Amino acid sequence: MTDIRDGFLDSIGNTPLIRLKRASEETGCEILGKAEFLNPGGSVKDRAALAIIRDAEARGLLKPGGVIVEGTAGNTGIGLALVANALGYRTVIVMPETQSQEKKDMLRLVGADLRLVPAVPYANPGNYVRYSETLAGELAKTEPAGVLWANQFDNVANRMGHFHTTGQEIWRQTDGKVDAFTCAVGTGGTLAGTGMALKEHNRNVKVVLADPLGSALYNHYAHGELKAEGTSITEGIGQGRITKNLEDAPIDDQVQVTDHEALPLIFNLVRQEGLVLGGSSGINVMAAIKVARILGPGHTVVTVLADYGTRYQSKLFNPAFLRERGLPVPDWLD
Ligand code: PMP
Repeated sequence: MTDIRDGFLDSIGNTPLIRLKRASEETGCEILGKAEFLNPGGSVKDRAALAIIRDAEARGLLKPGGVIVEGTAGNTGIGLALVANALGYRTVIVMPETQSQEKKDMLRLVGADLRLVPAVPYANPGNYVRYSETLAGELAKTEPAGVLWANQFDNVANRMGHFHTTGQEIWRQTDGKVDAFTCAVGTGGTLAGTGMALKEHNRNVKVVLADPLGSALYNHYAHGELKAEGTSITEGIGQGRITKNLEDAPIDDQVQVTDHEALPLIFNLVRQEGLVLGGSSGINVMAAIKVARILGPGHTVVTVLADYGTRYQSKLFNPAFLRERGLPVPDWLD
């Protein structure tokens, strides 16, 4: 009997589902977090990276020695670079300069060619996503083995990865006893793909968008208007448009979560449960609590613990950074 995973690629996915003690006790529900921070690249985005690369290979869009270009808040870039290392591709990663130093360091560590750009809206051609597409086109003129623009936002191989893995795993792990699934959206791949899979098993499973301030999606799904208000320090989530991954996503409801709600939760998870998580996980767990309160006691709500907190140590766990922005500070670090 052996239980061996065959290298990096085979180590992606099949993450544990963790019962969150305090959140469950407070709501009378089972609040379960899918431990995506335990993926070998450290985030949920390992799944999208692998799915996008395998899909491109199957379509003949990637050849040995080829270059993968992508615009990312960081985690997808880390996942792509690691999958690329394991398969013999190279990566050029475009990222807004505002993202955490820890993610930039990690991208350099794993050998990505990192290009930092100013954080400007999608409407501006200098936006990290738009620029990554332009750069992919330019590099394609000289790269003999070809260039793939991964295009995680509008490439539905992303959500299909979650459809075939994350969603099926949650169904199996809960033995089908799942009432609701909620998570925040960057590309929408996780919410749409997982939601579609769960609904295929049982169409009564509620799929709920968790939206931080500064994102336009809450207003879109609640009022039919893509409008953003406020800001958030969370990285990798929030969206101003309906990406291809979000198109026809089976979203039943939406909750909005502020940083003031999510941060104390992140701090409590460290000290009370031993879970050191990134900001989007705080938004997700708070959303799961809100969904549990809407459904009432006795339900099972699943959410996503997207990445590890050390990836944002200089921000989320930095009293000076938090105080400057008028945000809650972890008392044991103060
Ligand atoms: N949380 C974190 C930390 C992320 O990096 C991302 C992806 N950018 C998400 C959540 C959102 O996932 P998705 O792109 O599948 O919507």
